[in-house]
Amino acid sequence: MLPKSYDGQDCSLARALEVVGERWTLLVLRDAFYGIRHFTDFQTHLGAPRAVLSERLRTLIEHGLLTRRPDPDQPSRPVYSLTDKGRSLWPALHALRSWGEQHAPAPGGPRRVFVHDDCGGELDATSMCRTCRQQVGPEHVIATPGPGLDPGLGQDAVSTALARPHRLGDPLTVLAAAPSPDTATADHAG
Ligand SMILES: [Zn+2]
Repeated sequence: MLPKSYDGQDCSLARALEVVGERWTLLVLRDAFYGIRHFTDFQTHLGAPRAVLSERLRTLIEHGLLTRRPDPDQPSRPVYSLTDKGRSLWPALHALRSWGEQHAPAPGGPRRVFVHDDCGGELDATSMCRTCRQQVGPEHVIATPGPGLDPGLGQDAVSTALARPHRLGDPLTVLAAAPSPDTATADHAG
């Protein structure tokens, strides 16, 4: 049986994987960069089992990558937001995505393209703008629909909201249908 941790490894990569190496964790962080803030929206977009999603969010909060606070507009719905420590993962996350595009490409091309807000240039794998050659932080990145984004896939309110150009980190406006009693319960637990 595989050990559950990397205790025997004296390496900072192993220590980073203790925080972000579990299944779903990087996708939760990706969605947080997309501006997803509510438990039900993470769940809708990821399709991860509830208990797993709760656990991943809890781990990210424990390690200081996310915060969880009451939503000022809807106090019963906690809001999850990236901290500076969480945002500092952007270059690693973007580089890993770029690697995936190169070595495990989706049919039809990337689903999203990331551009510099200032000049509209596309980012390279190191988060450098190909047009103005500046290193671009996530607060200056606009996620835009890519050629591989299939409008027929993911008809839910979160995917619909993400199909529009959107600045990373800005809260995503999800025009949800009227919440069912189920979703209200889910938010309390998340
Ligand atoms: Zn630029």
